Amino acid sequence: MVIDKKRLELILSKAPRFPTPRKDLEQYPTSSRIASYMLWTAYLKGDIEGRVVADLGCGTGVLSLGALLLGASEVVCIDIDCSALTIAKHWIENYSAIGIEALCGDVTWISLREIDTVIMNPPFGVYKRGADISFLRKAFEIAKRSVYSIHKFNPQSHRLITETAKEANFITEILSIDYMEIPQLYEEHVKRVHRFKVALYRFRKRW
Ligand code: SAH
Repeated sequence: MVIDKKRLELILSKAPRFPTPRKDLEQYPTSSRIASYMLWTAYLKGDIEGRVVADLGCGTGVLSLGALLLGASEVVCIDIDCSALTIAKHWIENYSAIGIEALCGDVTWISLREIDTVIMNPPFGVYKRGADISFLRKAFEIAKRSVYSIHKFNPQSHRLITETAKEANFITEILSIDYMEIPQLYEEHVKRVHRFKVALYRFRKRW
């Protein structure tokens, strides 16, 4: 075994914050609890160790580092915010002998070679409608095995997500329903902590 789940969560809890979170890019970091659960599940299903993994909208790198610690052979980390990528690169260098391949650009436009597994916590599509679905389409285009992703949960978006997966020949599975809490980042969040329901999805390519 590469690293145990407890240690994974502990390391991921040290992920750097976004210095000045951008509202237009929906920069919400994934909690170490959710990130480690996602990665550990992917690891147990054989989707991480020895695999080429892409982290779409990687931010400061929490999911990318987790994948490396669980034995991914290569991690491609993509974000439109080049400063977040620089932070991710430096942080990851402290913990992993293998670095990430960092690509700065728009996920929906970037051209990627085939990847085994995509891991992501994409924008929820609240600020820019449809951003979540654009990320999913790109993930389905490049993933040869599976996609792990977090989405705001409600029946309508669940239906849309399932249909999008089906069109791309992927089978949808919900791994867990959870609550995500994000500190008040933007002026329209009146409460100090904004809490909402999220679903952690696994999509498996139909053979
Ligand atoms: N995956 C990170 C960050 C999640 S926040 C984590 O789990 O902590 C969503 C991320 O998507 C942000 O880093 C944001 O900069 C990035 N992003 C938003 N729109 C993007 C786009 N069109 N192309 C690439 N990255 C994008």
